Amino acid sequence: MIKDFFNLIFPRCCLACQKALISDELLICTHCRLELPVTNYHLWEENPLVMRFYGKITVKEVYSYLKFIKGGITQKVLHKIKYENYPELGQLLVTWFAHDLIKAQKLLDIELIVPVPLHKSRLRKRGYNQSDYIARGIASASKVPFSDQVLERSVKSESQAMKGDRLERWQNVNKIFKVRRPEEVKEKHILVVDDVLTTGATLEACAMPLLEVECKAISFATLAVAI
Ligand SMILES: [Zn+2]
Repeated sequence: MIKDFFNLIFPRCCLACQKALISDELLICTHCRLELPVTNYHLWEENPLVMRFYGKITVKEVYSYLKFIKGGITQKVLHKIKYENYPELGQLLVTWFAHDLIKAQKLLDIELIVPVPLHKSRLRKRGYNQSDYIARGIASASKVPFSDQVLERSVKSESQAMKGDRLERWQNVNKIFKVRRPEEVKEKHILVVDDVLTTGATLEACAMPLLEVECKAISFATLAVAI
């Protein structure tokens, strides 16, 4: 009753549709939660996200939680997390994502979870790394070890590196990230985590140096995927 009374004074609203939340709802109303465009690609026999990397890099599995469509609910929700300071909404989504993967037994052979790193200067400016909390959330739900010390971004801007023809691009993306602790990844199945999967170039650039130091396999996970 006290809770309901406080809700009357400080109405808690759904971060997606702004309607008042009812007692057990947290951050997102039940209607919006059911409306979330989950991909469920991890349940498909042929995961279409893995196909995106064909001919580019050998990747075992690719998991993305939500479909990102311009103007859609995913964009709205990611904007809240990133620019309107609702990290707890991000954490909630990551928990749902992780539980889906755990339920489908998709994380059993993952041995280390690694976020896509930001360049040091950008990290200083922004204060946090978006892919970091996603990776930590999946790690804590699944009890798989996490490390943000394995990969380092050595090139600040990716825009230049992503230009040019295929060979030139390959040579450039190949140098964006380096592995700081090769001994930590050797012979391990690594899950590299980012916030949104678009062209896949960033994840590809992370995977290259990891494969070079002989990790066993690479998989990717992102909170959303551009459709
Ligand atoms: Zn809602």
